Amino acid sequence: MRTVDYTKTGNTDNTLSSSTQNGPEDVAGGVRPPIVDLHLHTTASDGQLSPTELIELVAETSLRIVAITDHDSTEGIGEAQAAAERHPGLTVIPGIELGTEVGDTEVHLIGHFADTDAPGLQEYLAHLRDGRVEAARGTVERLREHGINIDWERVLEIAGGAVGRPHIARAMAEAGYVENAQDAFRRYLGSNGIARVKRPKPTPVDGVRFFHSVGMTATLAHPQTVKGLARVLGFLVDEGLDGIEVFAPKYGTNDRARRLEVAARNGLIAVGGTDYHAWGSADEIVPGDPNTVGPPPGAVDDLRAAADRWKAARKSANAPVIPEIFGGRGAPDSG
Ligand SMILES: [Zn+2]
Repeated sequence: MRTVDYTKTGNTDNTLSSSTQNGPEDVAGGVRPPIVDLHLHTTASDGQLSPTELIELVAETSLRIVAITDHDSTEGIGEAQAAAERHPGLTVIPGIELGTEVGDTEVHLIGHFADTDAPGLQEYLAHLRDGRVEAARGTVERLREHGINIDWERVLEIAGGAVGRPHIARAMAEAGYVENAQDAFRRYLGSNGIARVKRPKPTPVDGVRFFHSVGMTATLAHPQTVKGLARVLGFLVDEGLDGIEVFAPKYGTNDRARRLEVAARNGLIAVGGTDYHAWGSADEIVPGDPNTVGPPPGAVDDLRAAADRWKAARKSANAPVIPEIFGGRGAPDSG
């Protein structure tokens, strides 16, 4: 098991951090105002800002290292990196978020340090996006059965990239069937909604294997949303999970210290970010919010070193092969 010494990566020796911040015990190994945000979305998936707009926004903040982590897509990364070139000192890490499922829980995984040309990477993402399109089409179909006629072409237009329920919700609001996207989710598209069509998802183990097979790290996003976390974490750590989101302000910051302890106990790198989509809701946390706590820059160094190890393993053919798209090879029983 790897051991991670967070005392070395805490904010105490961090010259970039604000002098007005509280002591290290208050930020639980993190940094306030944040310098690092490893979880951001753009119009390449369900974010509302283009990669350029997002970079322009973060460039105005304390953030210096950001990761673009769109769902099932690397399409926004090139544009984000080009935009960041206008802002010396701002680094963009190429990432991907994957929605996986085991038993009755969703498990979101984030991969960092993508080599977007890695063999198999784009093919796998394309398969995942095909599954999304099919489920979205099915949802539009089911809505029609309930007297809600939204235009499929319009949904694709709104999506621009990887299509998902938020885009259907917006099309519904636009056509006047619901008041807003939240209303659409509550009445039609949410987990108990009448028009919900589930898409096939890889298992978390397949997700971790995929990331490693293409030379990326695998980290667990917002662990608070995982049912039966201890069990899920157990088999993901066995599979070589690299990190876990500890600094995820959107999901509550009260138990940061406890999550940091979970990370340390499992030899995981403590990462995190805002999971920003620019949805514009009043309670949405904007990247670089000076009142939030971000991961220490040292966590990025640890993550990069881990990615280098996975890339080296891939080159020497020690990396796991890309798993069956929706097979759950080796996934634990969901019982
Ligand atoms: Zn996300």
